[in-house]
Amino acid sequence: MNLKKQTLSRLGYSHYRPLQEEAIDALCSGRDVLLAAPTGGGKSLVYQAAGLMRRGVAVIVSPLLSLMTQQVTALNAKGIHARFLNSTLNPGEQDDLIWALRHQRIDLLYLSPEKLVQPSVIGFLHSVDISLFAIDEAHCISQWGGFFRPEYSQLGQLKTSFPGVPIIALTGTVDQTTTTTIQESLRLTHCLVMKSSFDRANIKLHIAQKRKSKQQILYFLHHEVPGETGIIYCRSRKKTEQLAAWLSALGLPSLSYHAAMSDADKQKNHTIFTQQYGAIMVATTAYGMGIDIPHVRFVVHLDLPNSPEAYFQEVGRAGRDGRPAKSLLLYGLQDMLQAQQLIALQASAVEQDGQRLGSLFRILEGRGCRRQNLLAHFGETLAACNHCDRCLTTSSEQNVTTASQKLLSLIYHTKGLQAFSVLVAILLGKKNKAVSAIKAESSPLFGKGKELNEAQWKSLIRHLIAYEYISVGTASVFTLHINEQSRAVLQGKAQVIIPSEHYYPALQEDQLTL
Ligand code: ADP
Repeated sequence: MNLKKQTLSRLGYSHYRPLQEEAIDALCSGRDVLLAAPTGGGKSLVYQAAGLMRRGVAVIVSPLLSLMTQQVTALNAKGIHARFLNSTLNPGEQDDLIWALRHQRIDLLYLSPEKLVQPSVIGFLHSVDISLFAIDEAHCISQWGGFFRPEYSQLGQLKTSFPGVPIIALTGTVDQTTTTTIQESLRLTHCLVMKSSFDRANIKLHIAQKRKSKQQILYFLHHEVPGETGIIYCRSRKKTEQLAAWLSALGLPSLSYHAAMSDADKQKNHTIFTQQYGAIMVATTAYGMGIDIPHVRFVVHLDLPNSPEAYFQEVGRAGRDGRPAKSLLLYGLQDMLQAQQLIALQASAVEQDGQRLGSLFRILEGRGCRRQNLLAHFGETLAACNHCDRCLTTSSEQNVTTASQKLLSLIYHTKGLQAFSVLVAILLGKKNKAVSAIKAESSPLFGKGKELNEAQWKSLIRHLIAYEYISVGTASVFTLHINEQSRAVLQGKAQVIIPSEHYYPALQEDQLTL
């Protein structure tokens, strides 16, 4: 058996996946590699195998303690000498480790970026034989994807300090901006860039409109994924706890996870979740990076993710075993307005945050196959998937250009001072307090928008926001404003076509039969 095959079986596998072998070959010949593959794509095997095949210790930079522990434990169980260097080691253990490294008793060494860039650590590494550097989750170098970790930006010194040692950067995102930043920051001038398809065909995408979201979750859990293990993502910490308690009380075993919990509680809930089949983890995005649980069958988003990258990564935690998995994202106009406003009001927000959110909106609002729209963001062209909500329902589309013109005119005539709900009420000819307060009954547009119902008007507004034909104000009620682009719609140069939408079905608590 040749070394490559031998190494593969030492790691417990029978075949290399496409790309794995090519990347390993490049590293073994001393070449730098940038490997962009989706979560669950099998990136770890590349540096583990190449590390075992080359002389010396492979130094693996990993941003999360839990990720390191998980990998080291798994490797040790296979009889491979892997260790980690981090602040949890006592001085005795550290001395032990240093001795083992000096005597070439270790094949793979995991450490955090903070640890690696310490001058004493860099100095020490000069005294040992290093086979390769692996920079895991390398997108943390870039501000672009929203996973920025400042320590990562210092890793560029590796190439200068250890010019002969190959570096492999691994990332779960594939957009050009991020990959270019990674190459520049790590000074990988002649690296082999490998991008695998980001299509995770086994995960069914469903994006739908939110109304009575708790009951909608119940419907999903009961009808779509009964008894399965999965993750529900929410934005607020309190909501994770409340929803987990509510679901548990209904007999659906749920746990919560968020950044403000103690490490012990987080660890406890994570362990239960990994071991108890059918458990539901209700979490903020704090539960994420590095989580490798093969049997997660579903991921639900009860709030909007921050970017297409975040959405993709979070959804990608389902179906890591390759078997069918489901995802559901519920949102509404209110969520879009809130997210948009949050960015407008945040002093620390950068322009990119707004762009990322805009890209997400266009994925949600775009016509046609969900998977095509999502993957197009990552530069991939796919055939329609035939199993997302759009492909499965014979969704018709509606040209709402004239209705959009009415809305834009109304925004113009009310000087952008009115909340969207008031604008919709005026167009539908509804008399309420807010409408009367501005004497809108006498407006020429009063009751002139009855060709659409309220849900369709909201859908139209979401569409106009996503394609930036209107902007969102920063007032406490959500006001809408016309902008430069609105003119294209007003003049009929841009058509507004929306897919027919439906609310996701709901199931009342008392209809739940377990
Ligand atoms: P990534 O780091 O890209 O997120 P991992 O390295 O964690 O992905 O691999 C994802 C899953 O695929 C793991 O459960 C791993 O055991 C499995 N895997 C990786 N490579 C192979 C292979 N060649 N054959 C079979 N299973 C593999």
